[in-house]
This record gives sequence, C-alpha cells and structure tokens, in this order.
Amino acid sequence: MPGNVEEDRIERLLAAMTLAEKVGQLTMTAAPGATTGPAPRDDLAAAIRRGAVGSVLNAIGRPAMEGFQRVALEETRLGIPLLFGLDVVHGYRTVTPIPLGEAAAFDPGLWRETARLAAAEASRDGVALTFAPMLDVCRDPRWGRIAEGPGEDPWLASLFARAKVAGFQGPGSWLASDGAIAATAKHLGAYGAVTAGRDYASVDVSERLLQEVYVPPFKAAVEAGVAAIMPAFVDLGGVPMTANQRILRDLVRGDWGFGGVIVSDYGAIAELMKHGVAADIAEAAALALRATVDIDMMGGAYEAGLPAALERGLVTQAQVDEAVRRVLRLKEKLGLFEDPFRRAAGPDVAPERARSLARSAATRSIVLLKNENALPLAPEGGPVAIIAAPPLGEPMLGPWSAIGEAGGRPGLPEALQAALPARAVHDVPAEALVDDAALARALKDASHVILFAGETEDMSGEAASRAEPVLPPGQERLVRRVLALGPPVILALASGRPLVATDAIAGARAVIATWFLGSEAAPAIADVLAGRAEPAGRLPVSWPACVGQIPIFYGQRPSGRPFRAGDHYTSQYLDAPLEPLFPFGHGLSYARFAIEAAAAERRPGADPFAIQVTAKLRHAGGPRGEATLFLFVRATVAAVARPVLELRGVRKAALDPGGSATLTFTLSADDFAYLDADLATRRTPEAIEIFVGFSADRTQLQAVAIRPGEGPAPTQT
Ligand code: BGC
Repeated sequence: MPGNVEEDRIERLLAAMTLAEKVGQLTMTAAPGATTGPAPRDDLAAAIRRGAVGSVLNAIGRPAMEGFQRVALEETRLGIPLLFGLDVVHGYRTVTPIPLGEAAAFDPGLWRETARLAAAEASRDGVALTFAPMLDVCRDPRWGRIAEGPGEDPWLASLFARAKVAGFQGPGSWLASDGAIAATAKHLGAYGAVTAGRDYASVDVSERLLQEVYVPPFKAAVEAGVAAIMPAFVDLGGVPMTANQRILRDLVRGDWGFGGVIVSDYGAIAELMKHGVAADIAEAAALALRATVDIDMMGGAYEAGLPAALERGLVTQAQVDEAVRRVLRLKEKLGLFEDPFRRAAGPDVAPERARSLARSAATRSIVLLKNENALPLAPEGGPVAIIAAPPLGEPMLGPWSAIGEAGGRPGLPEALQAALPARAVHDVPAEALVDDAALARALKDASHVILFAGETEDMSGEAASRAEPVLPPGQERLVRRVLALGPPVILALASGRPLVATDAIAGARAVIATWFLGSEAAPAIADVLAGRAEPAGRLPVSWPACVGQIPIFYGQRPSGRPFRAGDHYTSQYLDAPLEPLFPFGHGLSYARFAIEAAAAERRPGADPFAIQVTAKLRHAGGPRGEATLFLFVRATVAAVARPVLELRGVRKAALDPGGSATLTFTLSADDFAYLDADLATRRTPEAIEIFVGFSADRTQLQAVAIRPGEGPAPTQT
C-alpha cells in the first residue's frame, strides 16, 4: 500500500481530473499492430494525449513503450504515466515451458525462478503488468486453455499461484524493485469448467466445487499479494464473471480484503450485452463497475458507457473514484510516477543464465510416461532416426510466446547428435513419410526411431478447444506405419493437454510428454533421451485412456456402488476402462525407488490433526535419480462425501544408487477442513486416512498408520 505521500498525490490528481480523464485511467487500449481480436485504434497517441487511456496493452519493445509514455508524460494535462500490460505467461524473450508442462516439475522454486526471469526480461522493455499466472483448475483436456494453467488439482494450483506471484512481483511484492512486474491472477472463476470444454461457453458448477476447487488458487494468489485479478469471460450459473458482484465485490474484495486492481478480460465488459444481461453499453459499464472491475481492457465500454451510467444514476461518482484510486495506487506501487520508463529495471539477465534456466525448466517438465528399457539411449549403438510427424516441424514455443526466441523441434537432430556423439542421428525428410518404400529405406538401418508427434502450438491455448483431443489427422496412421517397420519407437508427444493417443502409446517402447517446452526444448529433450538428464516431470493432470472418460480427475467423490471386478452394478463403463491411462502424478525415472517405511505421528498440542508424516525412500535400481513422493489424505467419514484422495504434500529427494532419504510432511487441521452440507462451516472429518506414493494410483499408494501422540486423535479407518 503506498504511503501518505503517494496517497496525497492520488487525491490531488483525483481532485484535478475531469470525468473523461478518470474514465481514461480505467481504460486499457492496445498498441496498433500488436494484437488480435477487435482492431486496435490507430489513433492511440491522440487518445493518450486526450487523457482517454490509462494503460496500454501489447506495446512490445522499449521504443514503442517509450514513445507512448512520452506522450502521456509530456503532452497530457496531468502527466500521469501509462501502465504497460502484456501476457508474459511463460517467458518473454527466453521462453520456458507452458504452465501445464512446468506444473509437471512440481517445483515451486523453479516456478518462482522462471517467473522472475520473465519479469526481469519484460520489465526492461517497460512492461509493468503481466496477465499471469493463469490459475484455472481444469479437468477437461478438450479445453485448449488447459495448456495455460497448472492442471487439475486445487492444492497444486495454489502452490503454483504463490510461487508465480512471488516470482513476478519479487521478494515482498515490492513492485518498484528491480525486475519486478505486477502479476494478474486469472481468470476467476471456474473458467476451466466451461461446458464440454468449449472455450467461452457457460459455466455451471456447484457452489461446493467453486469454493473447494476453483477459487482456492485465487485466494492463495491474493494471500501472496497479487496485484491484479482478471475475471473470466464466462458466465457462472447465469451471472457473467465480469459483472459478478457476489464473487468480485463480496468475496474477493469483501471477505479476502483484496485492494488491488481488477482488470476485465479482453472486451469482456462490452460483451455483457452479448451475454444478455445489459441492454446497452451504459448498463454493461455499470454492471462491471458495480462488481468493482477497475480496468476495461479493450472494450471501450467504460469510455462509451460510464458517463451515461452516471447520468442515469446506475453508478455513483464515488464508485468511479474508487476504481481510479486503485489504478493510480498500482501505478504508485510500481514506482511509475518516479520511474515511468522503468529505467531502474536493472541489468539485463545474462543470456547464458537465461538459457540454462530455460533448459533446466524444460528438462524438469518432461514426463516419461512409459519405458520398456528403451530409454535412455545408450551412448554407443546403431543409428537413431528422427521423424517429425506432420504438421509438426516448425519451432514450437507454445501459446502466448509471440516474442519468444528459438526453441521447438527443429534443432532436435542436432541436439541429439551433440548428446550422442558416437551414434549417427538422421533426420528423416518429410518426403519420405508419404511413401512407404522411402520410409522403409530411411529406417532400414535405424536401431531406434524417435517419432515426434502431437499437436502444433495453435491447437491449444485460447479458442483452441478440441472435441477429440487426439493425435492430429494422419498421425495415427503414420505411427502404425513406423511401428510396422520394426525398429523400437520412442514417441515424443508434443501437446498443450494430455492427448488421447492410447494405441500409439501402446505400440511405442517409450513415450515422453514434451508439452511445449520453450526456447531450450531441443537440448532438453536430447538431454533426457540420452540420459544426460532425468525426466523429472510428473503429470499434473490425469491422462485419459479415451475421450469418453473426459472429464477425468483423481479427486472424485466415492460412489455408493464403487467398481468391483465382475460386478455389473457398479460405477463403470461397459466399453471403456474406469481408470485413466496414466494417473495424476505419474512419471517414470531412469532410477527406481521404493518406499521402505512410512509412519505418522500426532504432534503435541490442541490440534488433533497436527500430524507429522515421515516416509523413508530407498533407491531401488538404475542410476542416480530424483524421486517425487506425494502425500494424499482422505476423509473417510465426514458430514458430506469427500474426494477419495486429496493432495496435501509433495517432496522430492535425489538418491544415489544404494542411497535412501527420509522425507517429512507436516499436516494440520487446515489440511482436512471442508465445508459441510450448508457450505458455511469449516469442519474436520470424523475419520481420516493418509497415503504416500508415487502417483494418485490408489492401488499403489501406501496407507500410513497414525501413531497416537498426546491429546485427542482423529479416528483412522
Ligand atoms: C485472454 C486473456 C489475456 C487477454 C489479453 C484474452 O483474450 O483471455 O487471458 O490476458 O486476452 O491478451
């Protein structure tokens, strides 16, 4: 919160501002030529000069930013600096993995570091606000935006939220510090639950799911000091989020005490008319302002509608002033009045450092889904053939990386050759793929084939829903042809979502999920294939076996008729398995690990759920490797049915052959709290279970017995 001097300046400015200038502070307009969607105004400089623009979207590069900022400072009546916003989602110039991929690293330290790097690079170009992190829990891989968020689990998404906010905003969220930018938690709420995975479609989730699954990551972001929040495009049970007073004004601002800026999504205020809740632009503007949306991104709705809304008494001058105050406060916090050009952004990040972080982030995000002794590739051996299945082949940084540099599959042959200097590495030319004889010739001597298949980057992200999230047309057939030719196939699957590719996966000897890994994708994939690095990623989403299983997630509530083999009258499909192909948390290493012992002990004190869990892990074969251990809890008896598993801890241990490590988790009543039948009271369960294991596969989890300590103990079942 700015101090008194800053508050005084804000009040002085407010007193001097005309209504048009106030509305200008609430208006975000895109720089020309730098955006998709509604055409940006080419008269941006003129609009700034009039005081009609307070923030600018997509002004890319320092010269653009400085040009517009100079107009605001030197040619407007009040000289209020502009705020420059951009979607710095998974990197700026140096691109790191898409969030879904990076979530697979299960590593808050890494998440913080990559956000820090992105912020440092972006702030040097004058960016002050990013529209990230995206925190939409998603259990439906038909939705293309699953790529932009941390997956299916609210606990994981909350961990991700805290790390990303700390990374973008810097230590203590001191936004004026070197290389910090303001973060936006988006898109509140339940955007990941759009009907049938169709982007922008209506959302209708229960209040319980909203509060227990979709909203917690946003609360975590607010607790971490996030500067801004963006409501989703969608309606939630009929109330568009952009106009949702109950959530934005009452919950976020009221209950959580969020004093930051709420910025609409692109054109979303004007879209309230299309939702059918506003008759005209004045009503749309009034609905958003009353819900405490401060900045109108790209809709021109506040400019066109707020003056009339005031005249009609739909909003008050005080409501306008409050929104302007919040925008000016953000500018104060960012230090823009003192350093409007962000010249104090600090020295550029050394390219070497940026590259090495991007490479390790990419490596740590790769998930080894399957391995029948095919990986890592031995340093010596026969030729390795690399095939890029059409339409892959172009550099693939992933969605929201328009200004990123390098990366993608081109370069993989070279990178793999560098990692395997003693083996021949051939890139199979695209022409050979259309002709059976040519393909056979190309693979004749190959001892292994790396088949790079999956989605192009435009198949996921915004407005990229797929009714059938499967391999793109033609790839299944190509996989079959390659498999028929004999050499063991290692499938590298690029995608912004878990892809239903069950047959291809079954035929391959090894499969890695490579998501979109960013600037250093090629060397990272080569490192993992050649065993120079471990595939450390674990799935942040359940990987469906078939499209009909979607939506699929591990944290389901139990059925009264749970599946029992051979019993027809249980919860199951007649024509498909019940379980995903790969469970949440799944991911192999080149090493093997075993849980030697796990114990839980009540800790002294009044909290009967203060429990310390220790698990001893043992290296059980293979090279040195990193184990990832998950802790899940289950409320077996409670006032309402609880999910069969809830993630409450993740720990990692690097183990040498023969080595072991003891990992500790600390639980408290908060880890077991839930909403009872009236959704108002937080309760703790009557009986609980605790599990540790390497994924959410319940058949592999180890139940941990709780030893009583002092005081009342929770019942264990
Ligand atoms: C997206 C947001 C993004 C905004 C600005 C919208 O279309 O939904 O996630 O921040 O555009 O680019």
